[in-house]
Amino acid sequence: MENVIIVGTGCAGLTAAIYTARANLNPLVLEGRMPGGQLTTTTAVENFPGFPDGVDGPDLIQRMHQQAEKFGSRFRYGVVEEFQPGSPHRVKVDGEWVETKALIVASGASPRYTGLEGESALIGHGLTSCATCDGAFYRNVPVCVVGGGDSACEEAGFLTRFASKVYLIHRRDELRASKIMAGRALANPKIEPVWNSVVSAYLTDDAGEVRGVRLRDTKTGAESELEVKCVFVAIGHEPNTAAFRGILGTDENGYLVQTAGTATNIPGVFAAGDVADHVYRQAITAAGQGCAAAIDAERWLASAE
Ligand code: NAP
Repeated sequence: MENVIIVGTGCAGLTAAIYTARANLNPLVLEGRMPGGQLTTTTAVENFPGFPDGVDGPDLIQRMHQQAEKFGSRFRYGVVEEFQPGSPHRVKVDGEWVETKALIVASGASPRYTGLEGESALIGHGLTSCATCDGAFYRNVPVCVVGGGDSACEEAGFLTRFASKVYLIHRRDELRASKIMAGRALANPKIEPVWNSVVSAYLTDDAGEVRGVRLRDTKTGAESELEVKCVFVAIGHEPNTAAFRGILGTDENGYLVQTAGTATNIPGVFAAGDVADHVYRQAITAAGQGCAAAIDAERWLASAE
């Protein structure tokens, strides 16, 4: 029987691990489908307090991991397949049921795709959501980024290191991104914004690789084609709640609902980070929620004794 299981090893999960370990709760931390979470797919993080010169995303995560281990957190590779609330709670991890008194769900969010026909088959064939992972494969060729948020601007900027040209395809004529990120992207001579446009189809060559996109003008409905070797989709994220759906309360977009502090509708189950936060979604706010969830879990365990 575990005291506390933490689901996820992004900023929220690792911070919860540091705090629960320091509270002598001997936490078991489940790495999840993407160990380290979204920061592992970013480059420089410039807004995490304490790093005036920026910090590499994977490096920041690695440091948090070391810090959690130093205080006694135990890590296990695995994904929660099923969840049974109760006393104790039970989670099925890679076919094995594990019991725990408290549970902190910090399973994060995954990149959203457009849902266009044939999309999933093209992932890895000129379609991706991770510029840091795949950008270097597209040297001296034109590529495009879909989206108008901070992610899209960040990815577009990163891709200019490799690509001959980066089209930034956005469905409106104003970026959603923060002023500093938007300004930087629009000032980059290699980035060309394509306003009021959505991708209506992916175009492929005989080998099944992306060769371009068909665009639809969101104002006029006019269709056009754009030749690119890779499409980087950066249109937001979906919360990772599959194992908890129908048991833990969610909002209309599927994010876990926190009832008081980080508590969920099930006593002893807490939620932290991007799986519950569709408003702030920053590394630092996820870390803050991880800390809060650890303290909430610790107090709940003490009161339940
Ligand atoms: P986001 O802010 O939700 O932006 C998603 C973008 O995709 C929006 O511009 C949206 O258009 C567009 N979009 C959504 N669905 C679409 C669809 N079906 N077709 C075409 N376009 C679509 O997501 P994000 O950029 O991933 O950022 C998420 C959070 O992470 C934000 O809070 C952001 O500040 C943070 N973040 C921070 C940094 C940083 O500070 N270094 C870097 C990356 C992300 P509309 O604008 O029209 O809605």
